[in-house]
Amino acid sequence: MAIILITGTNSGIGMATALHLAEKGHRVYASMRDLKRGDDLRQAAQSKNLSLEFIQLDVNDETSVQKAVAGILEREKQIDVLINNAGIGPLATIEEADDAMAKSVFETNFFGALRMIRAVLPAMRQQRSGTIVNISSVAGKVAASCMGIYAASKFALEAASEALAQEVFPFSIRVRVIEPGFIVTPILDKVLSSLSTATDSAYPNVIERTQMMFTQGQQIGGDPQLVAETIESAINDTEPKLRYTVGDGARAFTDGRARMTDEEWIAMGRHDSIEGYFQEFATRFPMSA
Ligand code: NDP
Repeated sequence: MAIILITGTNSGIGMATALHLAEKGHRVYASMRDLKRGDDLRQAAQSKNLSLEFIQLDVNDETSVQKAVAGILEREKQIDVLINNAGIGPLATIEEADDAMAKSVFETNFFGALRMIRAVLPAMRQQRSGTIVNISSVAGKVAASCMGIYAASKFALEAASEALAQEVFPFSIRVRVIEPGFIVTPILDKVLSSLSTATDSAYPNVIERTQMMFTQGQQIGGDPQLVAETIESAINDTEPKLRYTVGDGARAFTDGRARMTDEEWIAMGRHDSIEGYFQEFATRFPMSA
């Protein structure tokens, strides 16, 4: 049984992961920034007869992070696994993403994860064991139009994870990076509502095709349980593996991008028609390749 701390567990992937790992017999600290939003998780845990520890934790707030980690260490004397799951995803083109939006994405997706990592590392170094799981995205590998800021935050998380993994190697601490494609969670609705505010955009085609992609993502995306199971495998994996792609769509996307030159990828921006873009997309990123 491991002592596991997960951020952002009141919905989506965080919720599925908290339930799945508790079901596997681990002691799970299910954190969320507002405990009043925890009813769905509480009910799901109750219906499965699972015991979870609920704690308040806002990854944007250093005091909240320190308090949560200190509280767990006081009770358990150790933290075996940290899962940096909390994330936000408002989208906009680079020109139309203002500083406030860009900084808020980095504050949660990148600095929030760093804050958590710094908070747990002294204990993990002392234990000379531990696993840090960072939830990145296929957008941590490929930056599509309209997703530049979100992708930048995930690229940054991937870079930090890679360096961290080398740094903590001598302490027997492992770092795992999880890269899901579309997963059906509330974040997809939040993304669509951020795009719906771009009514006078100078990039109407880009906005529209991104809306179409996320609408399709809601229909064909994977189940959060798939990510929860990948996280569990990553925690249990004895191989020194860093990155775990989740889902066929994610693999088709990252493999397709790897087959293309940078210039071919950029040139997909030439399409005036949304149909033309999607036709090339289907050819470049076939699901069965
Ligand atoms: P959700 O929106 O369902 O979950 C995001 C969670 O993060 C919510 O619980 C949210 O809480 C929490 N959160 C946001 N800001 C903070 C904060 N400052 N402190 C603590 N918690 C916070 O989306 P997902 O489950 O899909 O997202 C989970 C992770 O997976 C994210 O990192 C996302 O980028 C990543 N991901 C998701 C994909 C998808 O298609 N769904 C694909 C690839 C990656 P609150 O309700 O309070 O806002």
